[in-house]
Amino acid sequence: MQHFINVILPIPLEKLFTYSISETEFQHIEPGMRVAVPFGKSKIYTALVYETHTNPPEVYEAKEIHKILDDAPVVNPVQLRHWRWIADYYMCTIGEVFRSAMPSAFLLESETLILRNERGVVDENGLKDDEFLVYEALQHQSMLRVDEVSAIIDRKNVLPILNRLIEKQVILLKDEIYEQYKPKLVRYVKLGSAYRSEEKLEELLESLTRAPKQSQVVLALFQLEVKDKKPIKITDLEQSSGSSKAVIKALVDKGILEEYQIRIDRVNYEGENGDFDLKALNEYQQKALVDIQKSFDNNKVALLHGVTSSGKTEVYVKLIEECINSGKQALYLLPEIALTTQLISRLQDYFGEKISVYHSKYSIHERVEVWNNVLAQKSKAQIVIGARSSLFLPYSDLGLIIIDEEHEGSFKQFDPAPRYHARDAAIVLSKLHNANTVLGSATPSLESYYNSQTGKYGYASIDRRFGNVVMPDIELVDLKDQTRKRRMKGHFSERLLEEITETLDNGEQVILFQNRRGFAPIVECTTCGHSPQCPNCDVSLTYHQHRKQLRCHYCGHHIALPENCEACGSPTLDTKGFGTEQVEQEFKDLFPKANVGRMDLDTTRGKYGYEKIITAFEQQELDVLVGTQMLTKGLDFRNVNLVGIMNADSLLNFPDYRAHERSFQLLTQVSGRAGRTKKRGKVIIQSYNPYHQILKQVSTNDYLGMFKEQLYEREQFLYPPVNRIIKITFKHKNYNTLNDAAEWFAKGLRNVFKSGILGPEYPPVARIRNQYIKNVIIKVSLKQSLPQTKNSIKRIENSFNAVSQFRSVRVIYNVDHI
Ligand code: ADP
Ligand code: ZN
Ligand code: ZN
Repeated sequence: MQHFINVILPIPLEKLFTYSISETEFQHIEPGMRVAVPFGKSKIYTALVYETHTNPPEVYEAKEIHKILDDAPVVNPVQLRHWRWIADYYMCTIGEVFRSAMPSAFLLESETLILRNERGVVDENGLKDDEFLVYEALQHQSMLRVDEVSAIIDRKNVLPILNRLIEKQVILLKDEIYEQYKPKLVRYVKLGSAYRSEEKLEELLESLTRAPKQSQVVLALFQLEVKDKKPIKITDLEQSSGSSKAVIKALVDKGILEEYQIRIDRVNYEGENGDFDLKALNEYQQKALVDIQKSFDNNKVALLHGVTSSGKTEVYVKLIEECINSGKQALYLLPEIALTTQLISRLQDYFGEKISVYHSKYSIHERVEVWNNVLAQKSKAQIVIGARSSLFLPYSDLGLIIIDEEHEGSFKQFDPAPRYHARDAAIVLSKLHNANTVLGSATPSLESYYNSQTGKYGYASIDRRFGNVVMPDIELVDLKDQTRKRRMKGHFSERLLEEITETLDNGEQVILFQNRRGFAPIVECTTCGHSPQCPNCDVSLTYHQHRKQLRCHYCGHHIALPENCEACGSPTLDTKGFGTEQVEQEFKDLFPKANVGRMDLDTTRGKYGYEKIITAFEQQELDVLVGTQMLTKGLDFRNVNLVGIMNADSLLNFPDYRAHERSFQLLTQVSGRAGRTKKRGKVIIQSYNPYHQILKQVSTNDYLGMFKEQLYEREQFLYPPVNRIIKITFKHKNYNTLNDAAEWFAKGLRNVFKSGILGPEYPPVARIRNQYIKNVIIKVSLKQSLPQTKNSIKRIENSFNAVSQFRSVRVIYNVDHI
């Protein structure tokens, strides 16, 4: 009998692919194992076994696999069901889910990879145009595949160029990267075997009297051994003996010391042992806990709605404790930017080694380790704290999922596919495991609050801050009025300046929030009105003072700030609008004595980028922190008593049906950073429109008022949560082709659905990286069958793809676009 496997390939194929296997392989292979398989003319992919069977494929001859890569499954059946759901619901392929779910080190490919030659000295001027393109691309990505290079320089045969680049020392080639993962080895030392007895040791020390440095090392080793009774790391020995690597090496060479290596997991927790006692909950937290457990008993997702600093985290801690005591795994999901050391060490104080952290700033090695630990159900991965991708880990027995800051839009993956919402996908995963789910927020999303009102979710709330700390006092300042009365200094109103002065005089800290990075969004010529544009995207370039550059935030294009207007030549360039950098600069001029720091995407790159700034602020090395919305999430600073919001209008005026909900959430969250201890905190919101309903609701902490008003609008205009939306994006480099394609598709949709089709329309930035963009929105009533709707859309796409001129148009689905 012949044997076959159906596999998932890590590419956007609609169907599973079938390969043949031998009888012996059949005995061994299980779904969830990886296999290396040939594909197309010359490619080799890592594929995942989905199922085994005995039916040969009808339309093609099944090829044989190259090799089985695992001894046991690395992906379990629950994951496969979850991935299937994600692919179906978010209209992508299971291959795309597979590619995004696994740490890249698991997806070895035999395709040649091109790496940047770190050692080479590159003469940029000596590169031809196409060579330069590849060189430039490698500044942004550490590796490129050959087909990616083809796409970048837009031609098939790229080998001559690659050869030239190798000669010029720009690139290196890397073939066959089987198993990229290397466990980290740590170097240890011990006394050489010849010296282990007391006599020998004495002799040794005697003989070393004329080498004081060496004898110091030996003594230090001795002390460490007595003190810790553990293997001694070379680095520790170096430190405690105050000597150098060279001295230790000399001793090793002489055989006095012996060096050895132990494989350690990179993801070890190095702090205390997690034996802090859990805090006793106060009555409000206790009530919330009981309500959450009631929802669990009724098999419902629980929404925990607790104002900022109400102690939600402590409630989660209780739930986690309960979960792990029953021997199950717990997942604590957070938006990427809220995954701070502050929170992680807080949880580690309770749970110590049981915690693993998983997010995108971790190296592939660390990710593989966490994956393997979860797979092996190790106790050190019993609790996972992570960003959205931690949903894909191989849990076998989840008992609890916490989704903190559940209102955060960044839980939705925007690009590439799968464009999933981690909150919603987590709820589905939780169901598959029969686990409990809590969504937590001070400002729940309209969706989740709506679900709690209709009874679909359970509801628990804490409406006061922990420890009788009062909510901050929020004051609105009218910028129009202040400007008219000439009371502004730069972007600071008189009121804000007064409050800053007082706060600093009291030795307290200030947070200033401006929702834009860079110095000023744009530079404008006051003579002719021209502002420099990105050549690849339809946006004005943003001014970054620090580097005296104009940069595009969409494609990274940048130029030096010109001295004269490119259009009319006059030197009258002025900045318009303002960002974090300008706030920082103005502040320095106004308060030269204060220490000010800035937190935005530009200052927090790198693995420890955030941590450095947060720690400096926490330890009060900084008096003032200027930042974008990164400031809003999960930070608990004890000494902040004033939060200034420089300009609320850019948030409110954003052209999107969610702008008001989002403004309320963001402003409430930033305000929540003020006065988290005894003293009442102060918040100043500056706006040209202080009578805006949302600002009133923020200042009176009126979530319910906001909810009702926004829900009414959503009902009027048929937006979520009373309706579903699917956004289809079309991209093409030719303007006319794009327009024709989008029109054609929209017409098809109108024929089928009659109503509820919006567009095609250009988004606010209608061209990015030389691709024109148009969107169509489909409003799907909750009564309408979603699978049927998607089938109809797919049918239209099939006819669309049959039109030859549209074949090169990219069609991107975004289900539940937010
Ligand atoms: P939230 O997550 O709702 O913003 P936190 O959990 O950060 O609030 O709690 C705010 C502050 O109150 C924290 O410093 C926390 O340590 C403290 N806190 C919360 N609950 C308790 C408790 N039961 N006992 C002692 N301190 C608590
Ligand atoms: Zn000009
Ligand atoms: Zn651009």
